[in-house]
Amino acid sequence: MQSRLLAHGDFLNLSRFSPDLVYAQTFRLTSGVSANIIAPGIVQFMPPEIDDAGKFIVLSSGIHGNETAPIEICDNFVKQIFTGALVPVFPVLFVFGNLPAMAIAERFVEENMNRLFSGAHSQSDTAPNAERIRAKQLEEAVAAFFALSSPSSTRLHYDLHTAIKESKNEKFAVYPFLHDKPYSLEQIGFLQACGVNTILLSESPTTTFSYFSSRQFGAHAFTVELGKVRPFGQNDMCRFNDARNALLSLMCDRNVAYTVQKDTLELFRVNQVINRTTENFTLHFDASTPNFAGFSKGESLASDGEKAYLAEYDGEAIVFPNANVALGQRALLTVVPTKLEDLHV
Ligand SMILES: [Zn+2]
Repeated sequence: MQSRLLAHGDFLNLSRFSPDLVYAQTFRLTSGVSANIIAPGIVQFMPPEIDDAGKFIVLSSGIHGNETAPIEICDNFVKQIFTGALVPVFPVLFVFGNLPAMAIAERFVEENMNRLFSGAHSQSDTAPNAERIRAKQLEEAVAAFFALSSPSSTRLHYDLHTAIKESKNEKFAVYPFLHDKPYSLEQIGFLQACGVNTILLSESPTTTFSYFSSRQFGAHAFTVELGKVRPFGQNDMCRFNDARNALLSLMCDRNVAYTVQKDTLELFRVNQVINRTTENFTLHFDASTPNFAGFSKGESLASDGEKAYLAEYDGEAIVFPNANVALGQRALLTVVPTKLEDLHV
């Protein structure tokens, strides 16, 4: 495995197609960076000198197996790091989440993995499935990685996705609920450098990967939606140039700084989290309605058995509609515009 990785860096390929060859080991690359293979799809790179006051970066992709563009971007970074073409100056943990779902080009095999974090993988009567076991393994890998940081380190986790639907705001990020911690303007600036100008402020705890890192480790963590789902090899990669370049300089440039571009920033806060609780759940808008399409106050959005959901504000917009989720799962989020000046920063 080691010589193959040094020559080609095809860690994702090995992880997907020959996982039996991928076992825990650490070796040094020609660049001096140390590669620490944790498990199939999980690899950590440590530069020879680690600055306690520096960054510790987690880049996760493929938590949904068919969201290929971020997987391809991270696969490329990993290849370049193994072969020495790219030399990170900060520790970086790469996580390729759901390998079996990638194999079948689906979002998941049995269960949406991005609802299984913060211990949710172990909290139901459901027998452990591959996704629950993997979510626990990913949590442990992130915990072990951040355990190497110090209190003065900046912990970062960008969980990279692409959305199922077309979106009025193609790229957007979810800022997990911070409890009483302040928002980071620098992080909003970084997301904008990635081409992400739309940010949703979550207002409640969730079982997503980014909330886990934010809550458990005080990381600046985000679910980042970089575009639309397409099969492997069919992504127009130039649409991801900003994100790729920003992630590259995040890993390799010690002195990069980010500022908020107020004129292009669109902030929303989550207003309604609508779960499907009955078999008789219907969305009251067309299936082609894009994410972030706005409604007028009083317009009907969905019904769940007897319960009707209406827009509560003018301009209230829909995100992530999916009427076919399992009972008890989120079928729709609504968001309302908010202003930077109103944030606790
Ligand atoms: Zn996703």
